[in-house]
Amino acid sequence: MNIWGKGKRSALVTGGSRGIGAAICRRLASEGWGVVVNYARNADAAASVVAEIEAAGGNAVAVQGDVGRQQDRQRIVAAALDAFGQLNALVNNAGITSVGRRDILEATEESWDVVFDTNLKGPFFLSQIAAKEMIRMIRSGAQSEGYIVNISSISAFAVSTNRGDYCISKSAVRMMTKLFAQRLADEGIYVHEVCPGVIESDMTAPVKEKYDRLIADGYWPIRRWGTPDDVASAVATIVSGAFSFSTGNCFLVDGGFHIRSL
Ligand code: NAP
Repeated sequence: MNIWGKGKRSALVTGGSRGIGAAICRRLASEGWGVVVNYARNADAAASVVAEIEAAGGNAVAVQGDVGRQQDRQRIVAAALDAFGQLNALVNNAGITSVGRRDILEATEESWDVVFDTNLKGPFFLSQIAAKEMIRMIRSGAQSEGYIVNISSISAFAVSTNRGDYCISKSAVRMMTKLFAQRLADEGIYVHEVCPGVIESDMTAPVKEKYDRLIADGYWPIRRWGTPDDVASAVATIVSGAFSFSTGNCFLVDGGFHIRSL
């Protein structure tokens, strides 16, 4: 059932139940967006993000679906349209790290397949489905524009030999962003990449000590962990339309990690 009024914007955030995705959901809801909180397995976490948003006076629905599965992708977008009647932004945030973090000489095809399904194939084909719906609604006048924001990683350019599949999947997200940006600009849909550095979340919890040491050693200029809110702030600014003559950009949220020094 469409619970949303004409002229109000709505966003689908994949992996919105925890970490960076949950922060994006909370931030967009606080700015008046209707939010679809997608999750794969953790229904309780998604429900608590929805409850938090509603308690603050916002609008959100939780939608289960594995972005790596074709039938789920169709269902997620259909549920988003059903809830809010339009789709102004897709945030491809859901992602997983390499299974077992094995050295590339020991890496498995099982890890490769699930990492690529989640981090690359899912976002690519979800963007395809969402873009077609956005085009339909822009042409009919139901909405004026659309955004797709892809969450990549500094692993798109920084080598970790124990996470080869993750690094390669994230570097491909960069080309995917440019492809959709080129194809969709004439349709009024703008596509960007947000590239986080080391962010405090469940994903990085197992390697917390390593990153604590790197921060203490000044491995990146801004000596602290990034927060999910740091990333959410960048996404919210992009979909606000603040960058009105831009598409295909990569916005680094990495504490300056990308700067090389001698
Ligand atoms: P996280 O804390 O592990 O949360 C991952 C989220 O993705 C959860 O909501 C999870 O849902 C969902 N998810 C996982 N597989 C899914 C699937 N197949 N379909 C739908 N949802 C799925 O991760 P995070 O640290 O917030 O990372 C979010 C994104 O930022 C990822 O793309 C990651 O690669 C990227 N990133 C993270 C960092 C970092 O330092 N944390 C740095 C750079 C980039 P469930 O709760 O149901 O499992």
